[in-house]
Amino acid sequence: AAKTAGRDRAVVFDDAMYADAVQDAEARAQLERALAAGEFLVHYQPIVDLPSGRLIGVEALVRWQHPERGLLGPDTFIPLAEETGLIVPLGHWVLAESCRQVAAWHREVPDAGRLRVSINLSARQFQHAGLVGDVAAVLRESGIDPGRVVLEITESLLMRDTDATISTLHELRALGVHIAIDDFGTGYSSLSYLRRFPIDILKIDKAFIDRIATDPDDATLAEAVVQLGRALRLQTVAEGIESLDQHSLLSALGCTYGQGYLFARPAGPAHIEALLRQSRNSGDHRDGTGDWWG
Ligand code: C2E
Ligand code: MG
Ligand code: MG
Ligand code: MG
Repeated sequence: AAKTAGRDRAVVFDDAMYADAVQDAEARAQLERALAAGEFLVHYQPIVDLPSGRLIGVEALVRWQHPERGLLGPDTFIPLAEETGLIVPLGHWVLAESCRQVAAWHREVPDAGRLRVSINLSARQFQHAGLVGDVAAVLRESGIDPGRVVLEITESLLMRDTDATISTLHELRALGVHIAIDDFGTGYSSLSYLRRFPIDILKIDKAFIDRIATDPDDATLAEAVVQLGRALRLQTVAEGIESLDQHSLLSALGCTYGQGYLFARPAGPAHIEALLRQSRNSGDHRDGTGDWWG
């Protein structure tokens, strides 16, 4: 803070709040500049059907191609974007860019017509008054089938301002998109809360997946979440699958989908497009079972 509070002025205004404000303003300006300069990009990580491993969707994960520091992951700038409010325009850009990209794949890549795209929404973005209108505009402008779009929100968001959250979720779903709870199990949602929220998917946090093949307690917890999902008629996605043991265990538990380095790391659009073109079975083609969401 002292460094960014600035040169000789720091002596006079030696005040933590002042320093914080200056730092925030500088961080916001940097992020704003990067956004205007087109330095952000979206990587996509495959989400697969379990147990077949067939590609059914991708999660959009933002990166910053920093001119000096190289390719930066979201952990280095998302918290700052949240604090400074720049997450609202940045999140909007990710939404628009990933819907544009996936709509293009739907049109151009044979058999990719049912590929779905998951997009992370931060709490601040979710609470932004313009969110529903912005999502509606992006859906319209990209031409994407809203039924192929999943918005991921976190458990902690569900815990505050419950009524407003529920009504926003209903408005979003009325647009045709689906809702996933990200990092499920790391927050504090009680089971009774879960029933009140109009959601479609539970994403089981990597922390629970890590030791399922070695720790019986963790395996029991994962099984409980999968069964909870089934009882509430939700899809379940296991995050952070890295080993074949984890894969077969989750398949045996009846977890619907999986995501993790075992299948694929997040990658740029060209790489994903190559995957889509070679797999010839992307999207959902389960014979006779109708819609994935049914
Ligand atoms: P997330 O939404 O839970 O995304 C999954 C994260 O786990 C990604 O990290 C992904 O690369 C990583 N991951 C997936 N499989 C594995 C695995 O097998 N092993 C390991 N070690 N990691 C795995 P990433 O891309 O660094 O993103 C971190 C977080 O940043 C995301 O967690 C999400 O909360 C946030 N984030 C990313 N993009 C956006 C965005 O556009 N908007 C917002 N608001 N948040 C974003
Ligand atoms: Mg996510
Ligand atoms: Mg997650
Ligand atoms: Mg996570």
